[in-house]
Amino acid sequence: MSAPDAIVIGAGPAGLAAAQRLGASGLKSVIYEKAEAVGSVWRRHYDRLHLHTPRAHSALPGLPMPASFGRYPSRTQFIDYLQGYAKKFDLQPVFNTPVRSVRRDGSRWRIEAGEISATTPIVIVATGWADFPNVPKWPGIETFDGPILHSSAYRNGSAYAGQHVLVVGFGNSGAEIALDLCESGAEATLSVRSPVRILPRDLFGLPILSFAIAQRFLPARIADAINAPFIRLAVGSIERLGMKQAEKGPIRMIEEDGRVPVLDVGTVAKIREGKIKVRGAIASFARSGVVFAEGEPAPFDAVVLATGFKPDLRALLPDAKGVLDAAGRPLVSDKSTAEPGLYFVGAIASPSGQIRQIGVGATRIAEVARRFLRDESSVASPR
Ligand SMILES: Cc1cc2nc3c(=O)[nH]c(=O)nc-3n(C[C@H](O)[C@H](O)[C@H](O)COP(=O)(O)OP(=O)(O)OC[C@H]3O[C@@H](n4cnc5c(N)ncnc54)[C@H](O)[C@@H]3O)c2cc1C
Repeated sequence: MSAPDAIVIGAGPAGLAAAQRLGASGLKSVIYEKAEAVGSVWRRHYDRLHLHTPRAHSALPGLPMPASFGRYPSRTQFIDYLQGYAKKFDLQPVFNTPVRSVRRDGSRWRIEAGEISATTPIVIVATGWADFPNVPKWPGIETFDGPILHSSAYRNGSAYAGQHVLVVGFGNSGAEIALDLCESGAEATLSVRSPVRILPRDLFGLPILSFAIAQRFLPARIADAINAPFIRLAVGSIERLGMKQAEKGPIRMIEEDGRVPVLDVGTVAKIREGKIKVRGAIASFARSGVVFAEGEPAPFDAVVLATGFKPDLRALLPDAKGVLDAAGRPLVSDKSTAEPGLYFVGAIASPSGQIRQIGVGATRIAEVARRFLRDESSVASPR
């Protein structure tokens, strides 16, 4: 192949969609992927995972998912889909090739990846955030006797039957892992520190995401105000379950804080039945359990940290200026950055669903990249 117009880093949904859209815009790209297959992060997610967003709004550009996948495709169906996607569009990532750094090299970018050192005018960073599990440090955590694992390392509840397991954090992973543990015969307790937003996955028989998509041009405050009574009706009082409602509505929460509300798949009912317990924040760990901030200790055999991710791309992009915040998160995604030729796809949460947004973002970046190359070449060879 002649020199590519762009290098895409990562062969997850965002990298595949970006390469597909570049190809559709007439640009050649090469994908560098550190794992040995596409969708590597989905291959590692917990066994029972299904998409929380419906099939109809979770396909990547150019290839719908088959109706046989049902409304909420399973993890394995989604992996099959990503494989089929790469095949259909002849995307052939260079596997086992972790990109170490992306640096400025004149008007181009220099990529160091494995044995490869290559330059390119366009780099699309589609590395996701799975490499950056957030593991808080509580006093005494090193003294705890049992296993402590991050949610990204949890597969299923089979090893925990009959055990007391603490799940820390009530996002989508924490909520579903607590449910999985409960259904596997463990005594699951959720530690919920912050106020939360819980949405039913379906409302009036339709995926809740359809409402968010239909309302995407409304200001977040107005959309949240319209939806509030229906959500309250569907979810009921969460204060009675020992949790506090977040002050911001779900759409504001995503847009302003990048926090995704919980799309409930059965956890709330188990809490209501008393089969999953809810406690507050953890103050410290002890050898055989934790001490909650309200004061009393509780014994646990194992702890799952569903405490999210803290992406930090400073090591990957050591000299990019004005594209990352102080913690190393991209300031913008799916549009031009402060660095010409450097783009992110899928790096910021969207109320309309992350995978759907990946498709929108990839299409936009392909167009931005095409224009950028056209403008560059007209500067390089003026008439
Ligand atoms: C448990 C879970 C469930 C989710 N469910 C949904 C859902 O139902 N609907 C939805 O819309 N969104 C969902 N999301 C959010 C999001 O859509 C997914 O995380 C999605 O996989 C993000 O795609 P991505 O390509 O940006 O990142 P990833 O899927 O994480 O892929 C990134 C790829 O980049 C590679 N990579 C990373 N660093 C490098 C490097 N330096 N060099 C080379 N390769 C590298 C990785 O190996 C990986 O293959 C979910 C997220 C999680 C964690």
